[in-house]
Amino acid sequence: MSVTVKIMERKGSSFLEKIYLFEIFKGMRVTLGHLWRNLCDNSRLYVRHYPEVKPEITPRWRGRHRLTTHEDGTVKCVACFMCQTNCPAKCIMIEAGERMDGKSEKVPVRFDIDLLECIYCGYCVEACPMDAIRMDTGIFSVTSYDRESVFVGIDELLATKGAFDEEEYKKGGA
Ligand code: SF4
Ligand code: SF4
Repeated sequence: MSVTVKIMERKGSSFLEKIYLFEIFKGMRVTLGHLWRNLCDNSRLYVRHYPEVKPEITPRWRGRHRLTTHEDGTVKCVACFMCQTNCPAKCIMIEAGERMDGKSEKVPVRFDIDLLECIYCGYCVEACPMDAIRMDTGIFSVTSYDRESVFVGIDELLATKGAFDEEEYKKGGA
């Protein structure tokens, strides 16, 4: 079987194109044109001026975790380990203790989340039968100079407030 070879004409082989200078000036003209336009009027730039301008967070957005409480301020978590078991990153560490206020049998005495390991999948929130853990804090920036600071413990998780009111959160379908 014979093969037909089609010879294509090679483009860009003129003298001016071969020395590249003319093409470089053509490219620079476009670049400098954009530079000048943006210097004169930067309102059309598609740039978010973070951190001065924060992005808008919706209730469905998964930010840093918090532990919720009952109306009387007691911990909702019953230390059932569902979130820890379901966590694909294995970054939740819970230690259960006996609960004495009659609300449930157990209460977490230790509840740590390693935010460097967390992949923000939200499975812990989905798995919780008590609505005791949420990711509605609106905190999306988890930065620090050392590893210890991104390890959040029970006190911090309980102290962090939600960024949305209850109605807004429920409507958000989180
Ligand atoms: S968001 Fe996902 S990875 Fe992070 S703690 Fe929850 S289950 Fe684990
Ligand atoms: S946060 Fe929810 S799922 Fe996790 S241990 Fe507490 S009650 Fe169970």
